[in-house]
Amino acid sequence: MSILPVYLYNHPVLKKKTEPITEMTGELRTFIQDMFDTMYAADGIGLAANQVGSSISLTVIDVSRADDDEDEDDDEPVIEPLALINPIIEYFSDEEIDFEEGCLSLPHFREKVMRPDAVQIRYMDIDMKEHTIEVDGLFARVAQHEIDHLNGIYFFERLTSLRRTLSQKKLKRIIRGDIAPKYSVVDASGKRFDYSPDDDE
Ligand SMILES: [Zn+2]
Repeated sequence: MSILPVYLYNHPVLKKKTEPITEMTGELRTFIQDMFDTMYAADGIGLAANQVGSSISLTVIDVSRADDDEDEDDDEPVIEPLALINPIIEYFSDEEIDFEEGCLSLPHFREKVMRPDAVQIRYMDIDMKEHTIEVDGLFARVAQHEIDHLNGIYFFERLTSLRRTLSQKKLKRIIRGDIAPKYSVVDASGKRFDYSPDDDE
């Protein structure tokens, strides 16, 4: 198991559209496992491959342990941890909801974003088998956030112009390195900072 450093705003790899994956390899399977390990270590519920420096169309999502205030419905099926290869959103619902998002590449930055409540996603699994799923609630929210990453889009780019203006200060703090997340990171210039739990004492 390897925990990978998370690339922070404003590293160029996060603004570049990722490349489709054409075949599954042993190396790629290991990388997918590393992405899950990295996401869990950072207490995330979604992670895109370019957030760990690899410009390929792949994201991992696990909302099973999240506090989902939005969905009080206990009958809701639990979606297992999922790796989505070359995911594409084929359909967005008309109904949009405002929900607070955060991002491992944007530490200490949380804002409410308006997005469609439900989406239909086409993706390939780790055996390169194609699937189409219809999802709503938290999973749909995270999937849209991660697929945006794969297209080089940060969630703050979806904010209303007022909220976006108000968030400039937070973005500047991330660039200056005034934030200390509890995971290893690579900053905008490519410099790596390793986190160790001892740093907290
Ligand atoms: Zn993110």
